Amino acid sequence: MTVVLLALDALDAGLVDHFDATAFELESSQRIETFAYAKDTPYTPEVWTTVATGLGPEGHGITGSGTSDWSNPILELGSRFTGRLDESTRGTLGRFVRDKTGEREQIGETNAETIFDRDGAVVHNWPGVYDGSYLQQAWDLMNAVAEGKPRHEFERELLGLGAQQFSWAREMLNHDVALAGVHVHTLDAAGHAYADDEEALRHIYGRVGGFVDELVDSLGPDDELLLLSDHGMRTSFYGEPDENGSPSSHSWRAYASSTTNTVPSDVFDIVDWIDEQVEHQIVEREQIDIDEEQLRDLGYV
Ligand SMILES: [Zn+2]
Repeated sequence: MTVVLLALDALDAGLVDHFDATAFELESSQRIETFAYAKDTPYTPEVWTTVATGLGPEGHGITGSGTSDWSNPILELGSRFTGRLDESTRGTLGRFVRDKTGEREQIGETNAETIFDRDGAVVHNWPGVYDGSYLQQAWDLMNAVAEGKPRHEFERELLGLGAQQFSWAREMLNHDVALAGVHVHTLDAAGHAYADDEEALRHIYGRVGGFVDELVDSLGPDDELLLLSDHGMRTSFYGEPDENGSPSSHSWRAYASSTTNTVPSDVFDIVDWIDEQVEHQIVEREQIDIDEEQLRDLGYV
């Protein structure tokens, strides 16, 4: 009786449709509302901390400014325009920023209560909540491919990392765990790197969809899965050229999908949705206990 909360960074509602990536479409699914706070578009650590706490950045304290050198003005400028640059220029810019600032990303962890503080909840890695080192590994890979790391090495390492995270989620189903949460950055890193390459990104959606299929196959009859994203990814090959968006910047097309008959409609609603599911599971378990007791009293067992 486990609820798995799978954080698929940058899974884009429009691209799920465009790529016909049906693995992500569980029993119920829809595009969901997300938000931007410190930047013009949704920012990964801010949104995931909101998902886990139900609070906005002013409440949970994790924002684009103050917790990361991505708020550095040079890098800010760089990240806003890198989508328009070719890969070698992008890489040079990234290296320049790291050399000049002598810093690297530091992701803070919130002091606010999260959904993973409850009894029976476990979390593997979750930006703003627990262990941001996996996100930094994915960011490093993204920078490396922009600096000329061969694509086959990028994909091997990125998908290897994602495979470990999915495998952890599957293993949790064998334990007495009420809620298991894990963040997977594969689609964000690949989305940034392949925003101009439809076939390359389609392939990555296919691989991650395969991981989702394996996870769904591993669910027991009482287990549930909610997968969701914090934002999508603008690309050169899908969608209207919208608002302020260049390819390789975050889109507003966040997505959620669940194995139940309900799905949250806003990143602020995840805590309530999880509470309801976990509560539902506890009630069902108590119901079974009571029924057994009654049967025993009546002499049937
Ligand atoms: Zn993100």
